[in-house]
Amino acid sequence: MKRIAIFCIPAHGHTNPMLPVASELVKRGHSVRFYSFDEFKEKITATGAEFVPCDSFLPEITEEEMKNLMKVNTTEMTIQDIRTTLKMNDFLEKEFTEFKPDVVYTDSVCFWGKLNAWKYNVPMVCSTSTFAFNQISSKYMKLSAGELSDMIFGLPKISKELKTLEPYGYHSKSAIKLVQNDNQTDTIVYTSRSFQPNAESFSDHYAFVGPSVFSKLSPDKKKERPLVYISLGTVINDRPDFYRKCIEALGDSKVDVIISYGKYMDKKQLGTLPSNIQAFPYVNQLEVLSKADAFITHCGMNSVSESLYMAAPMVLYPQTNEQRAVARRTEEKGAGIQLADDSAEGIKKAVFEILENKSFSEAAKAICDDFRSCPGVKGAADFIENAPCESDGFDLVKEVNKGNKWFYLFYWLIVVGLILLFGFFVTWSFAWVIGLVGGIISHPISSIFWNKRYKSIVKKRGL
Ligand code: UDP
Repeated sequence: MKRIAIFCIPAHGHTNPMLPVASELVKRGHSVRFYSFDEFKEKITATGAEFVPCDSFLPEITEEEMKNLMKVNTTEMTIQDIRTTLKMNDFLEKEFTEFKPDVVYTDSVCFWGKLNAWKYNVPMVCSTSTFAFNQISSKYMKLSAGELSDMIFGLPKISKELKTLEPYGYHSKSAIKLVQNDNQTDTIVYTSRSFQPNAESFSDHYAFVGPSVFSKLSPDKKKERPLVYISLGTVINDRPDFYRKCIEALGDSKVDVIISYGKYMDKKQLGTLPSNIQAFPYVNQLEVLSKADAFITHCGMNSVSESLYMAAPMVLYPQTNEQRAVARRTEEKGAGIQLADDSAEGIKKAVFEILENKSFSEAAKAICDDFRSCPGVKGAADFIENAPCESDGFDLVKEVNKGNKWFYLFYWLIVVGLILLFGFFVTWSFAWVIGLVGGIISHPISSIFWNKRYKSIVKKRGL
């Protein structure tokens, strides 16, 4: 029997996949403490784990900060994460010395879980509620201009905030290092190897276990009329304008519609609903998806995984960079189309394309079969029980990066040689142009060599 401490931030999308795993660990006889927040108490208690409330450690926030959090602003979330870690320091010092966990199972962006596992030298397994991201797979995340400027201008604020952690024994060079797991960190990812972009670039410290869900339901699409489900998740869902356009697009048509509009808005804002449309603040999503023939989704990782687990193809309407990565992968796999035009007409066209072109439901069914053949919740529990995970130590990304040093050394030797030749035999006046051009094209050229090395190592090792 092991003592297992589970940590997660206050977010449904991050908490949900950890719940079935917690329940499995409890069933296996482990002593499980789940450090979370009152909003999740009922769900956590139902797993049999001991719920430890942490609401009193959430820092007080201004109206401005709250607004930023609601917009899923990365800088704000990181700062609040750091402040919560500080506020929890004394409490967790007591917990780690008295409960003495054998393993920490923590969400990847829950800093107080990660930093305390490192501080007290306890084996740690991270839970990644989205794809695993590294130098390669993060290319799937295209940042919007706003997100990019938030990242650039937010970095100094974050580094300043990170420094406040140091006197308490929490050391991290940067927030990116803290958030992004490397190839030495035991990490559970709730998707299959074939759905994860660039799965071959992750070491065997990564367990791709497939969706972590409680439902025993299987897809069951037999019914008279197609069912369309609409949800923008649990965070940025206060979008009455969007739901109204969906109602205009699909009202009184030959499909039935269920809308989950979230807890932030009033149902009255949707107006009078046509008889084929029902709307709720929250639904049993897996149950609805088991019957749904199309899902208009914001592309949260859980929603997309659940949709594919229930073989429902999607109209993809991502709002953040992570969601755009999930949408891109889903489209690549043929199980959905991006909603380029979010007018009522555009929504109608996309939904009927999904319903009428069978290739989408067939692709969703193929991924559903793949997901259901994954190790699942039991595999995740095995991984945690056996932490730290044994590994052959091979790190593809590190291996490919090693070659970069040699590339740049040779590259700049050639450029300097060319400058000298040009200077001695033609003219010194314009020799600097060679240096400038060399600098500008160095990155694209190094990328070509990097990709070649990557492919050759992948081939050699049969990854
Ligand atoms: N969810 C649900 N009922 C609803 C809306 C959402 O059960 O009416 C669940 C859904 O099943 C998923 C989670 O909330 O597990 C949403 O997570 P996701 O990662 O998709 O999006 P987020 O809410 O984090 O943006």
